[in-house]
Amino acid sequence: MTPAEFHYDGITVRGVTLAGEETYVVVPEMNVGFDVGRCQRDLLSIDHVFLSHGHMDHAAGVAYYFSQREFVDNDPGHLYVPELLVEPLRTLMRVWADIDGHVPASNIQAAAPGQDIEVRRNLIVRPFAVNHPCRRHDRTVVQALGYAAIEVRQKLKQEFLDRTGPQIVELKKQGVQITNRVEMPLVTYCGDTTAGGFLDHEFVRDAKILLLECTFVDPDHRERARVGNHMHLDQLREIIPKLRNERILLTHLTRRTMLSDAKALLREAIGEKQAERVSFLMEHRRRRGRPRPVPTPE
Ligand SMILES: [Zn+2]
Repeated sequence: MTPAEFHYDGITVRGVTLAGEETYVVVPEMNVGFDVGRCQRDLLSIDHVFLSHGHMDHAAGVAYYFSQREFVDNDPGHLYVPELLVEPLRTLMRVWADIDGHVPASNIQAAAPGQDIEVRRNLIVRPFAVNHPCRRHDRTVVQALGYAAIEVRQKLKQEFLDRTGPQIVELKKQGVQITNRVEMPLVTYCGDTTAGGFLDHEFVRDAKILLLECTFVDPDHRERARVGNHMHLDQLREIIPKLRNERILLTHLTRRTMLSDAKALLREAIGEKQAERVSFLMEHRRRRGRPRPVPTPE
């Protein structure tokens, strides 16, 4: 499937997202990716990838990601995953030794709610718990995670705004704290989830771009949404007015509903005004440009 591509205020959101088939999203300007899907080429140049949960449509490409990174002589990158998935995924890499004969270098690290991960100076990713419990085979429940990419800036405090350059330098010399730390949530990805308390976080509802799942839109699919801990359009209708995001991109639509039908149902449910900022990620066509050369494995 051709990846969708969305542009807003200097930020690109590119990916594929269809329930049960594949979900991954990359933000190339930030060098950040959310979920792996089947590991399409888009992901290979991304050094920081954040896995929301272990369902196959989100995680199938993990081994392939590391193998392809090695093939193009890239370092393994960083894959951050819910803590309870670290060991199973490391085991998966070892099992590949019995199949492939070679295990690529990998780098799998635990992500935990509230423990910020620094991607680069001025950019952190904050994991948070969402409402999509998944049971491992041993019945352990793994809580799925969402991730917020947050720009961090130091802003001059109000009381120093009228000072001259030399005065500021002098204050700094005296060790005066002249700046405040300001967080600007840019892109927040909620993975798979039904509605829940996570929607109250400022870095969720104030993010410039929010990626929120809406798997089911058809009135006949309410029960499916409930059983699978997924969002239904009925819930979304209640939630949207409380969100302050400039743009909301809906992900993970079921294959049971055509995108054109889903768009019509969405518009009907939330109204024309809200529909100006809310859309399905898969509606957005990729801009034509030069294809990037990527070597093909033998
Ligand atoms: Zn899932």
